Amino acid sequence: MSKTLYWLQCGACGGDSMGLLSMESPDIIDFVKLVDIEILFHPSLSNPSPTQHRNLLEAIFSGEQPLDILCVEGSIIRGPGGTGMYDTFEGKPKKDILGLLVRRAKAVIAVGTCASFGGIGADGEIEATGLQFLKSHKGGFLGSMFKTDIGLPVINLPGCPCHYDALSSTLAALCTNIPIALNHYNAPLEFYNMLIHQGCVRNEYHEYRVEDANFGNRGCLFFYLGCHGPLAHGPCNKLLWNKRSSKTRVGVPCVGCTNPDFPQPYPFFKTRNIAGIPLELPEGIDRAHYLAYKGMAAAAAPDRLIKRETRV
Ligand code: SF4
Repeated sequence: MSKTLYWLQCGACGGDSMGLLSMESPDIIDFVKLVDIEILFHPSLSNPSPTQHRNLLEAIFSGEQPLDILCVEGSIIRGPGGTGMYDTFEGKPKKDILGLLVRRAKAVIAVGTCASFGGIGADGEIEATGLQFLKSHKGGFLGSMFKTDIGLPVINLPGCPCHYDALSSTLAALCTNIPIALNHYNAPLEFYNMLIHQGCVRNEYHEYRVEDANFGNRGCLFFYLGCHGPLAHGPCNKLLWNKRSSKTRVGVPCVGCTNPDFPQPYPFFKTRNIAGIPLELPEGIDRAHYLAYKGMAAAAAPDRLIKRETRV
């Protein structure tokens, strides 16, 4: 029997929907046929009349229309003053619609960083939050104890946007009842137990501390250009966009968009440093050892790297 899916867009730019629509091999249409998902509603794939949409929501709220998977894109906006009236559907706060939908859904997926952690509007003027986290603090809109009827917490798929392969694999696992192991932030270990740095084609430059201070070259972007690759978890250099690209592959530093504290309150493309050494070091590294190691590595850097001859 088909699994039903409803996609709720809240405080979002639509980037995660755009990511979903860029799925290929299979594309989104073939994918839902393959895993037998019935899309009840998605803002870019469905075109119900307002009455049909209203009736669908009523049927889900009452339990007449079963709901297996609820995907939420964007942060939950609670402003002004906790009313949620900054983000509405037919005059009703979307946060209230969400509150009714989660009671019926067997699984809830937070698609993207805003739905997972609050993202850009977290705790600011618009009182935005993630579904079950506010930045790195457990709680969010639904509270830390929330679980669906079948015992699942919200599954977080952070990323700005979330890669469609992480979403499609999670949906496929839910449709085939394969258990999904989650990390501390309720994100699937399969995609979020690795650093963005893993798989970056600039790794050899990083090892030998061959660093770029300006854009457009082939070196590592960590020391000067603010790359968060060794600090942020996600599959960005393993699951490539259009099967070939990532930020660092095209010379753009990772901005750490999968991190719960994204966006960080300091400039993106500038590394904060102490005496020329990044303030934040790769996860798990001791500063004194790192200094000694990087000094030796830079001294041992091969000429082909210093001359940027190795292609990235
Ligand atoms: S550019 Fe960033 S992700 Fe790539 S090797 Fe350097 S630090 Fe790691």
